[in-house]
Amino acid sequence: MAEPRHCPCPYCDLDDPTRPEPVGGWILRDEHWLVGQGDPDTTMAGGVRITSRRHYVDFADMDIEEATSFGLLVTVLDRALRAATGAERVHVLSTRDRLQHFHARLYPRPATHPLRGTEFLNAPQHSLTEDAERTVHAVRDRLQVSTPAFPEPDAVSGDLPGRR
Ligand SMILES: [Zn+2]
Repeated sequence: MAEPRHCPCPYCDLDDPTRPEPVGGWILRDEHWLVGQGDPDTTMAGGVRITSRRHYVDFADMDIEEATSFGLLVTVLDRALRAATGAERVHVLSTRDRLQHFHARLYPRPATHPLRGTEFLNAPQHSLTEDAERTVHAVRDRLQVSTPAFPEPDAVSGDLPGRR
């Protein structure tokens, strides 16, 4: 029998090998973050959730490494999601009102979509599993291209570099 978990929160053991991976597999796993496609029944293809490895709720609870890496992560995901989906804009949403473990969701909004802003975010979402999987693979491929273009977090001084 496994030892009792330190925390009963369902987002604290997302990476447990006994739990199923998100559709298409994890897009990114590093020391601070897990990134995966949302459930196709309720999420558009390319709608991804960033979940912190460590248990905390608010942005204010991040340490400097988490805060720095979150900014870089959103930047590379913005590039990758736009490249993979052709979206005009990637919306970022993080309320943590229902599940109190830090997470944020990114939603690519196509230029041709009739809705904007919170109306776009409030509209019902779904996707076909195969579309979601295809998008996950495309995003992962794009991340492998763009991630090495970033300096280490301690070298960031304010201006983010463009892709080289
Ligand atoms: Zn947790």
